[in-house]
Amino acid sequence: MISVPGFEGRRVAVFGLGRSGITAARALQAGGATPILWDDGEAGRAQAIGEGFTVEDLAAADWSDFAALVLSPGAPLTHPRPHWTVDLARAAGVPVLGDIELFARALAARPKDQRPRVVAITGTNGKSTTTALIGWVLKSAGLTVHVGGNIGVGVLALPEPTPDAVYVIEVSSYQLDLTTTFAPDVAILTNISPDHLDRHGGMDGYVAAKARIFAGQGADGVALVGVDDTWGQGIASRLSQRVIAISSNPSPLGGEGGSRSETDEGFVGPSSAGGQPEDTAPSSERLRRPPSPPRGEGYVALPGAVLKDGQIIADLTAARSLPGRHNAQNAAFAYATARALGVTHDAAVAGLLSFPGLAHRMEAVGRLGSVRFINDSKATNADAARQALASYRSVFWIAGGVPKAGGIADLADLFPRIAKAYLIGDAAPAFAATLADTPHVIARTLDDAVAAAAADAAFAGGDQIVLLSPACASFDQFKDFEARGEAFRAAVLALGAVPETAS
Ligand code: ADP
Repeated sequence: MISVPGFEGRRVAVFGLGRSGITAARALQAGGATPILWDDGEAGRAQAIGEGFTVEDLAAADWSDFAALVLSPGAPLTHPRPHWTVDLARAAGVPVLGDIELFARALAARPKDQRPRVVAITGTNGKSTTTALIGWVLKSAGLTVHVGGNIGVGVLALPEPTPDAVYVIEVSSYQLDLTTTFAPDVAILTNISPDHLDRHGGMDGYVAAKARIFAGQGADGVALVGVDDTWGQGIASRLSQRVIAISSNPSPLGGEGGSRSETDEGFVGPSSAGGQPEDTAPSSERLRRPPSPPRGEGYVALPGAVLKDGQIIADLTAARSLPGRHNAQNAAFAYATARALGVTHDAAVAGLLSFPGLAHRMEAVGRLGSVRFINDSKATNADAARQALASYRSVFWIAGGVPKAGGIADLADLFPRIAKAYLIGDAAPAFAATLADTPHVIARTLDDAVAAAAADAAFAGGDQIVLLSPACASFDQFKDFEARGEAFRAAVLALGAVPETAS
């Protein structure tokens, strides 16, 4: 655990007693503060009392006495309306912080030459994959690495800092909104598309929250920015630190670009999780791409390869688990990070190639004859599902759940790749209407969808892909996307499919 100094002998309010709240309380106490905990729910309070913390109704507390409010990222800071603890804190002039800010302050309290380095990753999609991949690459290169934050272990539960360590931290927009001095050595924004707008008061608020990952960086900081969307481009163009642009555009730096075109078959290789990867971007998507992304230092990510200055620097066709153009982007972020931290080219590439992948992200879960089953349960929005659909020429696609605004209308250019869709959950009728003439059926349950898709794929003959990439949240039928992915895996294996290993 990381102890948080700076509040010695002071009372600090902690609201929201999920995992990160309790961990923050422990970290504050270890640093000499007196945390005062509260949650509207009984279970969190019971756990806090069980651990011997002071639990006090913050609605009735004397706020003039608090040095800070540590707010759970689950409680709104601004929208749809500030949480009541935020109103009370503001009225009393008490700063509102999150666990990432406490982490930043704990590191900043150490002498400069004793500080570990920090890599922080945010973005609408690809955060967890990029975080895990960077952790893997750095560990494979022999560095002391701690991976956590919004993935796995909460940041303050990671091991105490040592000067040689590198923290690789996934950070959500909610967490970023609660930072004021966070200054990662390497900060990464993977991409931005509309998400969580209710909590940020619209797109401007969401983009501003994401941009905060770069706000505290000094001139020696490195900013890695995905520039395939106009929001990333805008942010990149306003930064004054070293910026490395990651693009899927073959000529992102305004020059002639790569020596081969994106549709060049040379970049499209077989992959263990890929089946029949194709990945040439649909033409409508290419049209959406901005004509003149920023000039400067950068990498180009094409399906199966990362390029710099028109040369392939990492051939990903032999990678265990980086199928698709989106994973080439993630690989570019990881490669650039590793190089910025002093890892050699050879070690960085070796790490990319040996990455085993993450569960529920285009994870190959089984094979039945020549039918392969891909679990992309983590695709909870249409943009994420786009990456998976674009990876195959033809798919038997299982989708549905609780839809996001806009549903799957944005994926229309990919409908020709859908051999048949199997629709589940609340979204099924709306998705059926959007699919119109594209073959589809409404399946009652995920199990039914898997059985029907497997039968149709086997009947079609040849190499076929059954893909769960729901473009929806899961909570109409499952606890979370992990439970949905595990249900998919179980249904696939129940049909007699042979599990696939990543290698
Ligand atoms: P996050 O942690 O941001 O939700 P994940 O790495 O868990 O991201 O991936 C979520 C979904 O987004 C998966 O369906 C995955 O296939 C897709 N994805 C992964 N990387 C990218 C990327 N660079 N761009 C767009 N989508 C991506």
